[in-house]
Order: sequence, then structure tokens, then C-alpha cells
Amino acid sequence: MTALLEIVGLSKQFGGQVVLRDIDLVVEQGEFIALLGPSGCGKTTLLRCIAGFLAAETGRVCIAGEDVTDLPPYRRPLNTVFQNYALFPHMSVADNVAYGPRRRGAGRAEAGQLAMDALALVGMADMGQRMPRQLSGGQQQRVALARAVVNKPKLLLLDEPLSALDLKLRKRVQIELKQLQEKLGIAFVFVTHDQEEALTMADRVVVMNAGRIEQAGRGQDIYRSPSTRFVADFIGEANFLRTTAAGGGRVALALGAVELPAPGYAGGAAPVAVLRPEHIAIRSQALADGRVEVPAKVQSVTHVGSHVLVALDTAEGVLHCRIGGTAPVDLVRGASIVASFDAADVHLVAG
Ligand code: ATP
Repeated sequence: MTALLEIVGLSKQFGGQVVLRDIDLVVEQGEFIALLGPSGCGKTTLLRCIAGFLAAETGRVCIAGEDVTDLPPYRRPLNTVFQNYALFPHMSVADNVAYGPRRRGAGRAEAGQLAMDALALVGMADMGQRMPRQLSGGQQQRVALARAVVNKPKLLLLDEPLSALDLKLRKRVQIELKQLQEKLGIAFVFVTHDQEEALTMADRVVVMNAGRIEQAGRGQDIYRSPSTRFVADFIGEANFLRTTAAGGGRVALALGAVELPAPGYAGGAAPVAVLRPEHIAIRSQALADGRVEVPAKVQSVTHVGSHVLVALDTAEGVLHCRIGGTAPVDLVRGASIVASFDAADVHLVAG
């Protein structure tokens, strides 16, 4: 089957500064992709190149098998939802949504019906007669979505569309938006710098850094097996632990003196071990049950609602742990404990 969106070798500069470097990306029909990365890494620029608002220096963009690289935005079978919604302030909600179909030549009645259908999809069927200023931020956001999907594009590009919403509303709209996307079967390319948002919503997360794609894959796979130190640090929390070469395709973890297989390692700088905070357990004494055990001292205990964050002093520096539920009563600052983890939970990345 033809991919819906195919980007090959795309590069973009602004005044000599390279902002996108040799981007390759394939998006399947109906797929929800999140472009995730720190501010300035090139997410919006990539979206604008896909939309046709910016021309890339090199590379091609194909949508549904058609090379659209040289087509203007309005000739591409896609639509874009911007951060600020960009509703027409002097038009009613219904007219805002009917605007696209009208421009495409639909009669008043037909455009009105399409607008009503699109508004119903986003749960705004009874607000058609309101003006944008009479809506809350979340409602305006839904109208912007209705307007974007009314023409049934194959591809919807969304540039941080939820960033103006407060946290609680944002969480709710994330779920609604994901459900809407599944219902419509439209592919979404969604820009965000919020990793939780990307992991919650996307089928596949594309992690960008300094104009490159560092890693693309399912959220849980990226979290479990980050391919670079940057990705390990950017997605979730991570402890980075020192290793040394141990010969025979293995490295030794300095903490706990345990050896680990290091398949891709062929000498040179030893890899860095990634250990997620939730994979560390705290014991009052060593159990010698096959897990790695490390003597440590409690440096701090922070209760954060559903879990407890504990910083531990070890011979290799501070280890951050995350424990579900409530902390054991004896978990007080200065207490001597044993930190334990399973060697299988340690993941190696290039140092
Ligand atoms: P954010 O999350 O802050 O929106 P982003 O990942 O979307 O960031 P871009 O907006 O794509 O990043 O910008 C990438 C780089 O390109 C930045 O260094 C930015 O300053 C630069 N840039 C973007 N647009 C232009 C422009 N029109 N002219 C010159 N430089 C630009």
C-alpha cells in the first residue's frame, strides 16, 4: 500500500543556518504521528515544509503517491491547525466551519450541512450561532478542528494545538482528539514539545534534535530502548551510569560491578547505561536474590501524590528512584538502605 506521506532527504536552511538536515519520514494512512523535540529543533519548520508554506532546499514531499514538493499549500490534500486557532472573529462558529466548503464551491445549504456535521463530530453542534469571542479556549480549539476536518483532508497537520489550554482541559482534549482521529481515519502529524502529550496520543513518536530525527517508533519502544543518550534524557527520566570495557563484547557497570552484554560495542568510549527511576527498588537490607544490589544512603524523599521520588547517594553519585504508593516509614534522610535493580532493565547507549 502506498504510504500517505513520504518525505525523502529534506533539508532546510534559514540564512545559512541549517534547520532541517536530511529528513526521511514515512507516515501511513490513518496514522497519528507526534513530532517531539526541544524548542528550536525544527518541528514547526518541518510541518511548514509538509504544508507547503516553506520551500526546502533539497528533498521531496509526496502525499498519497503524488509528488507535491512544487505545489502551493492550497493544492495539497491536507489541512493545518495552528496554535492560535486562527478563527475569523467576525463570523459565527457555523460560518467559520462552512467557509472552506463554500470556497470550494459548495452551495449554502450543503456547506451548512457539512459544517453542522463537523461541529457535531467535535461536540459543538449546539454552538453554531455563537461568535468565536463567546467561546472558551477549549471550545475555540474544537471549532478550529471542525474547520480543519470539514473538507475531509487525507492529512491533518497540527502545530501545538493544545498549548493555550490549561493542564486539566488539555488532558481531556488530548483523549478526545485521539478518539476523533481514530473515528475520522485521517492521518495526523502533531507537533508538540510535551513528551507526555506525544506518548499519550501518538501511534508513533518522532524525536527530533537539532534538525535531525534522532529516533522514530512507538512511544513505549522509544522509552524502553532509546537509541541515543539524548532520547533517553528527553523521553522520561533517566539515571546515566558509567560502564567500562570488560572484553568479549561485554561492559561492566561501575555501580554494582555487574557485567552486561554490549552487542554494538566494538571498543573506544564505553557506552553509558540508562536506568529508569521506576526500575529501582529500595530494600532495608541485601537479599542476594539475583538482582543487582548497591549500598546507598537516602539523600532526599519527595512525596508527589501518587508516588515518591527518592534521591540516593551511592559510590557512583546520586541515583534517582521513583516508588509507587507511599514511602516505607523508615525512608528518612540519612538512612542506610540497599538499592536494587534487575540487570535486564539496564539499557546501553553510546557514551
Ligand atoms: P518551538 O518548539 O520553539 O516552536 P521548533 O522545534 O518548532 O521550536 P522551529 O520553529 O522549526 O523550531 O525553528 C527551528 C530553527 O529555525 C530555530 O533556530 C529558529 O530560530 C529558526 N527559524 C524558524 N523560522 C525561521 C525564519 N523564518 N527565519 C529564520 N530562522 C528561522
